[in-house]
Amino acid sequence: MSNPQPVIALRDGQRIPQLGLGVWQTPNHEAAVVVRTALECGYRHVDTASLYGNEQGVGEGVRSSGLARDEVFVTTKVWNDDQGLDRALRAIDASLERLGLDHVDLLLVHWPAPQRKLYVETWRALVRARQEGRARSIGVSNFEPEHLDRIIAETGVVPVINQVELHPRFQQKRLRAAHAERGVRTQAWSPLGQGQLLAHPLVARVADKHGRSPAQVIIRWHIDLGLIVIPKSSNAQRIRENFDVFGFQLDADDLATLEKLDEAGGRIGPDPMTADF
Ligand code: NAD
Repeated sequence: MSNPQPVIALRDGQRIPQLGLGVWQTPNHEAAVVVRTALECGYRHVDTASLYGNEQGVGEGVRSSGLARDEVFVTTKVWNDDQGLDRALRAIDASLERLGLDHVDLLLVHWPAPQRKLYVETWRALVRARQEGRARSIGVSNFEPEHLDRIIAETGVVPVINQVELHPRFQQKRLRAAHAERGVRTQAWSPLGQGQLLAHPLVARVADKHGRSPAQVIIRWHIDLGLIVIPKSSNAQRIRENFDVFGFQLDADDLATLEKLDEAGGRIGPDPMTADF
């Protein structure tokens, strides 16, 4: 089937579709329909987590799409309460069981939760899961450079991806540079600023210029920056709209306009240095 969406090569040789569907806050009983709808629109990448409580619905959606397993890129994450080698290994098995899959394409440590002092051991569990075929690729989420350096120094294994909060109001330029130096790809969570950026007048201006929606402009911005992006919606029309971003391009003026939205205090979610849940 022809599916001309961009795909990013990861350092381990695997490939990830650059645009995926996020399913945080999609209830389990809706997840199968939401995922199937997205796959029918052309998405080939779904981002879930054990925390989201919808792995079962996500797995059902993937199966009901009729697509071959290797056509869909599925990510899940190990939650903070499951940190540590043994607990994380058990949590990975439980996630696969809920998903009804024998492997995920990408497995992430959800937060470093540095106060727990367990993220290195948790990373070792992911390394083992990959060796045993339960994950094709392994990465992290919400890691700062010092956390990345620690797991790399202690295990010699570099995560393929760091999934972090990133949107026009919080562009993470320093962290992106740190990723580039280490060969880690950047994946953007809350890419639409949880919807808060969609009414911004500068975004509206660029959207009007292209005859596109504010969400499409912001998703296109992520694509043009080379980021992997996972906007969330459980509304069929928005799911479709958010994928329809390959028929236009932003020019240098548009990118300069959106760059102006970056703010030192633009973070919406928790600070990874202190966050624990
Ligand atoms: P988001 O930035 O994707 O915004 C989602 C919200 O924007 C929706 O709930 C909806 O209200 C609105 N929206 C989406 N499309 C729209 C459209 N076309 N028009 C108008 N409004 C629209 O926020 P998010 O859900 O926080 O982040 C996306 C995904 O990132 C999550 O679902 C999850 O998979 C992942 N995530 C990961 C972490 C982490 O710690 N790793 C944290 C948060 C989110």
